[in-house]
Amino acid sequence: MLERLQIWRDERVAKRLSWYLAVSTNGMPAKYLICQRIPVDVDFGAGEEELWGAHREAAKAFEQVYTSIRGGRLALRELEKPAKSLMDLKVELVRRMLRHCNFCRWNCKVDRVGGSKRGTCMLDYTSRVSSYFHHLGEELPIRGVRGSGTIFFTSCNMRCAFCQNSDISKDKDNGLVVDPRLLAMMMWELRVEGCHNINLVGGEPTVHLHTIVEAISLLGAVQPTKDKLSYLWMMKPDALRWRRLEPSQYLYDGELNTPILWNSNMYMSLEALEILRELVDIWLPDFKFGGNACSIKLARTPWYWETVSRNHKIIYDWGEDIVVRHLVMPNHVECCTKKVLDWIAKNMPGVPVNVMDQYHPDCFADPLSSQFDPRYSEIARRPTEEEILESYRYASKLGIVFESISLEKSALSLRP
Ligand code: SF4
Repeated sequence: MLERLQIWRDERVAKRLSWYLAVSTNGMPAKYLICQRIPVDVDFGAGEEELWGAHREAAKAFEQVYTSIRGGRLALRELEKPAKSLMDLKVELVRRMLRHCNFCRWNCKVDRVGGSKRGTCMLDYTSRVSSYFHHLGEELPIRGVRGSGTIFFTSCNMRCAFCQNSDISKDKDNGLVVDPRLLAMMMWELRVEGCHNINLVGGEPTVHLHTIVEAISLLGAVQPTKDKLSYLWMMKPDALRWRRLEPSQYLYDGELNTPILWNSNMYMSLEALEILRELVDIWLPDFKFGGNACSIKLARTPWYWETVSRNHKIIYDWGEDIVVRHLVMPNHVECCTKKVLDWIAKNMPGVPVNVMDQYHPDCFADPLSSQFDPRYSEIARRPTEEEILESYRYASKLGIVFESISLEKSALSLRP
């Protein structure tokens, strides 16, 4: 059904999201299934440097196998599952990283397992999910017809004053605790119910990298029992709405197959990016600010521009499937929208961009809220029609691929 959507007639979108579409429709195996078949030859008791060395070698082997599978020269079933795989090594590495946390650019170096200090995200090793469900509001290729299997994690590593999910990003305890097994069960359930992808979001998923990577390693191996479902369904508002599909819809060579979607602010470390490369089938990154003055003022986040532009460039150069999101904010068209679009046109030509018009003042920027802080008065309104139109005109002038992704739901595009 996903492949029949009109949006694929836009060849620029179809070309850039071809791997995602093939995995989602079971024409190709997800990257994690390939990852489970790449052998590694290293003692997991070795030092972290040595493990990273083995990871880099195995990543090269992955690239060759992935390219062959993608090109139709190799089938997944021709590969055996080794005693120790790249997938296992990733699980080991994120456990090590958690001991001196460097998942994101803050590089807090805190021990989130045994230490008493917390980093910027305020988290220990515990992960919480506030809700998971078939999201029917994402971009058309992502939500399709049965929804995007979205899992909302709590806490964040940025402090956006206007956060549209502040109930979960600011409150790390607003949700139920999930371990990797429970998370893998959630993913299984969403995919078996026909979601087109597993959409990891928050808050910010990067701060839960350890739980997510281990859950992906367990995908398909664990399925929810009745007693687990009674716990999980406290987080699933659409629990009784969707029926399970025929196995042929979600199995590839007998194994659960689903695209993994990383829905992120991209404020992550290079190490986190390396871990994710062989697991993520489609990226949905935010590119919010045109420079550090705005990121510090509106999100209390330093080093934003160099970190987020670097990470976008890396995934683009890797040839990944990507839809970039940029939220147009009032009074920030010149300093943010135009700068971000300029950068994308120059550094990521051809990548689909959602130029989003749905900003509304929220959290500390909401003048009707008791939390309102007058320092954010400049963003305490919706963007004007002219600000949105100017953003579209500018994107168009730069040749950005945005129309079919951005305008299908735009209120402005629906006007005569
Ligand atoms: S995830 Fe980021 S903010 Fe949280 S402890 Fe690790 S480095 Fe710090």
